[in-house]
Amino acid sequence: MRLFRSPYIARFAFRNGIWKGRDKRAIYLTFDDGPHPEVTPFVLDILKRNNIKATFFCVGNNVEKYPEVYYQILEEGHQVGNHTMSHENGLKTPKSKYFSSVEKASKLIESELFRPPYGKITPFQFKYIFSSLKKKVIFWTWLAYDFDAKLPSKEIIKKAERIKGGDILVFHDSTKAQKNLEETLETIILMLQKRNFQFKNSF
Ligand SMILES: [Zn+2]
Repeated sequence: MRLFRSPYIARFAFRNGIWKGRDKRAIYLTFDDGPHPEVTPFVLDILKRNNIKATFFCVGNNVEKYPEVYYQILEEGHQVGNHTMSHENGLKTPKSKYFSSVEKASKLIESELFRPPYGKITPFQFKYIFSSLKKKVIFWTWLAYDFDAKLPSKEIIKKAERIKGGDILVFHDSTKAQKNLEETLETIILMLQKRNFQFKNSF
């Protein structure tokens, strides 16, 4: 089952995490797993054309591979956040390895924002990142499932009708998501603009 909206039980478990934007008239667009040499510039063009600032949660290894794309994100006025070095699943990674991944990525990605890959993180890892590393841990309220190539883009657009003010949306600037992103991102942005939402990227 694809849960486009994050379950309340998860929101309850990490109450110090950020699950919603503060401004109920705004939408918070986020993109995970880049930078990617083709997909990230595609996203940046759409954002520029529609005058939107977003947040990109970057994987450290991809920043090392594509530094010029990473700098383009910053130059175009977007925010970046830490998404670990190699997209580790917190529940399957020993804590010392997880923390060294987060800290190594911090050296490449200067940001107070962190998003755990897959949204999977233990309470202990959460506490360390939140209390010791002093990062804001950003989850989401609406997941596009753009990375699921079997999911028809029509369905993603249909689910986007249920987006509400204050929602934090996640898309992916990755190869897997490319097709769905091309078929949905701008359509969804235009739908939301028609509903008079603004787009924000400050958490
Ligand atoms: Zn991710």
